Amino acid sequence: MDIIHLLPDSVANQIAAGEVIQRPASVVKELVENSVDAGATHISIIIKDAGRTLIQIIDNGIGMSGTDARLSFERHATSKIRQAGDLFTLQTMGFRGEALASIAAIAHIELRTRREEDELGTSVKIAASVVESQEAVSTPVGTNFSVKDIFYNIPARRKFLKSNQVEFSNIVTEFERIAIVNPQVSFSLTHNAAEVYNLQPSGALQRIISLFGKTMNNQLLPVSVDTSIAKISGFAGKPESARKRGALQFFFVNGRYMRHPYLHKAIMSSYENIIPVGEMPNYFINFTVDPKTIDVNIHPTKTEIKFENEQHLWPILSSAVKEMLGKFSAVPSIDFDTDDAPEIPIFRKDMAFPSQPQIKYNSGYNPFKMNIPPKSSVMEDWGKLYHNFENAKDVSSLPDTDFKCEVNVSRDVSLLPEATGEVTGGMYIQIKGRYIITSIKSGMVIVDQHRAHTRVLYDKYIRRIMAKVPAVQKCLFPEIIHFSPSQSEILAAIEDELSVIGFEISNLGSGSYSVNGIPEGTEGVNYEELLRKLIDSAMECGKVQSGIVLHQKIALTLAQQAAIPYGQVLTLQEMEQLTEELFTSPDANFTPDGKHTLSQITNDELTKRFK
Ligand code: ADP
Ligand code: MG
Repeated sequence: MDIIHLLPDSVANQIAAGEVIQRPASVVKELVENSVDAGATHISIIIKDAGRTLIQIIDNGIGMSGTDARLSFERHATSKIRQAGDLFTLQTMGFRGEALASIAAIAHIELRTRREEDELGTSVKIAASVVESQEAVSTPVGTNFSVKDIFYNIPARRKFLKSNQVEFSNIVTEFERIAIVNPQVSFSLTHNAAEVYNLQPSGALQRIISLFGKTMNNQLLPVSVDTSIAKISGFAGKPESARKRGALQFFFVNGRYMRHPYLHKAIMSSYENIIPVGEMPNYFINFTVDPKTIDVNIHPTKTEIKFENEQHLWPILSSAVKEMLGKFSAVPSIDFDTDDAPEIPIFRKDMAFPSQPQIKYNSGYNPFKMNIPPKSSVMEDWGKLYHNFENAKDVSSLPDTDFKCEVNVSRDVSLLPEATGEVTGGMYIQIKGRYIITSIKSGMVIVDQHRAHTRVLYDKYIRRIMAKVPAVQKCLFPEIIHFSPSQSEILAAIEDELSVIGFEISNLGSGSYSVNGIPEGTEGVNYEELLRKLIDSAMECGKVQSGIVLHQKIALTLAQQAAIPYGQVLTLQEMEQLTEELFTSPDANFTPDGKHTLSQITNDELTKRFK
């Protein structure tokens, strides 16, 4: 009797799935890459319970015909290669037509898709490789994948998943890798109904800043070289921005994230003797190469790559980075430092990133009308304003306050949409180092800068806590702080909350702690004092608070400390951004502890005053 038989497809697919789909993040990676390949310009990613319950990817790409929708789940079904020769001539990469078949083997799937030329789209439902239904449906152009209950039919794998926090941070990692190199695509990422990212189409550097924070703007320098074997472009960190841990290091080859330990060393060699041993620079490097000269199929998850010309690429890359570092140290005043510097100098026409640089300007800005200090004199004026402010016991009694503005603030939040988005022409005036005045459709509004910023930051911190994605700013020089035994106890009790908000603290024993990372956006804040305040605020009625109350207390304390202080002179852009962010808050009228953030004067009232 013959004993060899072919495995049923469902079993073969499960085995393949073991290689391609290891965790929810792998599903996100495969589906979002497919959406990018399908030419989508907007991709929404909706996650529930770190992907355990739901992973949904909605794109506006080319969509699929009814037949293709069904075929796409077959093993080795791909529109991206036809014959073995294509393996070497692909513009897009690593296609084996395995992803959808693998995902369908280990989850409940619903696919809805439509091409522009079709009136009706297709819905396909599959579970454990078995097609449950296929029918015509009306659905928008593009593709909408829902993947539910991952590994429901492989309990061993489901058990193997890590905590939600770990699995979700893996998802964010995959998301970042795709978002960085596709800045022309807008992305949104939602976790348990909280928006984690909402990225607009932008330039390459702007995308990096949106993902990793504004400080990136001051820390990165452009790298660019074009040779016959590869075009290299991107950014690498200034030496002083190197970090001991958690450096941002990314290689992309023809638009896909890749690991490359050998070329990583090439970059490290450029920084030799420039940064302290053990520190790592940030880098974001894109290679554009002829697909014939690479092999991406050496690894099932396709994040490792072999270049035909590896040994030639080493010197090209390391000298490109060295040249950048040389230029930078020779011209230390090179002006990437100002927040509003246009991005032009760092873009080249031939860079791999397709979008054009944009110059932001403010069409409503008339320097003669408004009393805004020019940037160069900010320091002197700052001093003056601050002085005025300090001397004034009551701001409303300052001599040139010609309107008292305790007017008509209503607790009725529905008033707010009036203001939202209605700020006209970008006219902003800052007075007393404290108030921002601007015009809105229904009249004018006066915003308290510190309180407004407190509200904006508070909302942001609460979102971070809910999404459980800490935004950490690593400390270059970890600071050692000492706490009393009772403080240490409280600290231990609120450890999780602190880490979720971005603190990285390690306990050195006997009351000493090293602060290795702080919440992004709190740079410059005295964090020893901040931690003491957080510890104090966590205590109420003799016991440590927990749950939502604790979250709120932490978010509020942090927001109050990090918010723009009174006396700080703001640029037009800063005022505009702050006001806009405030107006998008559902509780824009009040700080979290119930103080007014703004005051409106209606058109009617203005008219009355000038009767
Ligand atoms: P591969 O990406 O390697 O071709 P997949 O299993 O990921 O294999 O996808 C199979 C095929 O399904 C793709 O080649 C493509 O034709 C089609 N497809 C998958 N996702 C999408 C999408 N979001 N939009 C349009 N077509 C898609
Ligand atoms: Mg694919």
